[in-house]
Amino acid sequence: MIAEKVKNEAKKQGMLANVMRQFNHASDVIDLNPNIRKILEVTNNELVVHFPVKMDDGTVEVFTGYRVQHNNSLGPYKGGLRYHPTVDLDAARALAMWMTWKTALAGIPYGGAKGGIQLDPKKYSTSELERITRRFTYALGDNIGPELDIPAPDVNTNPQTMAWILDTYMSTKAPNERSTNLHVVTGKPIGAGGSEGRDRATGFGVYLTIKFWAENNNVELKGKKFIVQGFGNVGYWAAFFLEEEGAKLVGVQDAFGTIYNENGMDVQALNEYQLANNGTVQGFKEAQAVDPADFFALDCDICVPAALGNQITEDNADSIKAQVIAEGANGPTDVAAEQILLQKGVTIIPDILCNSGGVITSYFEWLQNRNGEIWPIEEVMEKLEKKLRISFNKVQKVAEERKVDARTAAFIIAIERLQQAYVDRGIFP
Ligand code: NAD
Repeated sequence: MIAEKVKNEAKKQGMLANVMRQFNHASDVIDLNPNIRKILEVTNNELVVHFPVKMDDGTVEVFTGYRVQHNNSLGPYKGGLRYHPTVDLDAARALAMWMTWKTALAGIPYGGAKGGIQLDPKKYSTSELERITRRFTYALGDNIGPELDIPAPDVNTNPQTMAWILDTYMSTKAPNERSTNLHVVTGKPIGAGGSEGRDRATGFGVYLTIKFWAENNNVELKGKKFIVQGFGNVGYWAAFFLEEEGAKLVGVQDAFGTIYNENGMDVQALNEYQLANNGTVQGFKEAQAVDPADFFALDCDICVPAALGNQITEDNADSIKAQVIAEGANGPTDVAAEQILLQKGVTIIPDILCNSGGVITSYFEWLQNRNGEIWPIEEVMEKLEKKLRISFNKVQKVAEERKVDARTAAFIIAIERLQQAYVDRGIFP
């Protein structure tokens, strides 16, 4: 138990240290103006809230929630809310910074934020989670808003969570403002103002970036073996689209277990199994259980980390067999592991590019709500593919021109966009 706590602590510190090292490295490459570096290396606002919630048995628990707003020079703060025991200020800082680079790279008019509640949602009933979410929203008050800071789902939060936030936020507004606030959160259920396609957008984007990589390298995805860490929103949908392309899902790891079948597993059957099995793939009959420590060493061509940060480290990087790592998760590869992988010739599709399909489609949802429009799914997916292709090609181009890896190239594009905003606007007063 204590060992687990220490390990989690190291991982959180690692996330902030990682994003800072990534930022500093790219800033050094472009010789970033030191004044702009000073601004970008800190977060604008950090909110910590403690709030009481009545449990089903009548007792009261006090929870701690976070919202960190890193930068809004390109538009309103944007980023997910995570419900997990490892959520704290440093984790929220790191994840908020990644959101700033991600939205800037995607060329959408947003800044970066992240937050969540430090809890294990498995310990609470649905009605307790609803009350926790509503009290958290109330505690955040006007620190979030449709033109200020727009949350979205992340680990252990989902469209239902967003619908509770929306309803609570709207209930605190004057009647004439209520219907104009739909875009205070994205990733909502369709019935509550969500967009077609937002459910699958992040995983679809992960798949698209793998497809673009395959096209550029004359690789046929059909028959390729892939492994996925985290079989939640991102991992499941990435697997769904890779399977549609003819690739074979051979290994899956979630928070409870690791399974493997060298002949491939049926993605739909596995998802149905986990939905009926308390949200875990553990025990799936058409696969064998393997030691979780061996997951990244499984024989495969493509590896999709789609769970938490700092999963690929010095300890396991060398054992990785995959040719390409598509970072569905935020910050899954630490800096030391990245060096090992690059030396081995492994391609890493960096998180701020690979998983940006989610926030791009959140932007489409926000636009629809703001303009009173409803777009068909074909239009959403087509626009998403177009935007991702532009980002992917730009990252390739900058990587070649500057002779840097893809992550550094992606950071350079993002930082230069932010730099331009500061150069154009100057510093008040
Ligand atoms: P989710 O809650 O839907 O799924 C998380 C999955 O990870 C679950 O299968 C869970 O069992 C597994 N997991 C948790 N801890 C694990 C561990 N220690 N080892 C192995 N597996 C573990 O979350 P999600 O929305 O799919 O998010 C996954 C990742 O993708 C996160 O890093 C998130 O920040 C990132 N991301 C999500 C979105 C989005 O739109 N949801 C967008 C961009 C990035």
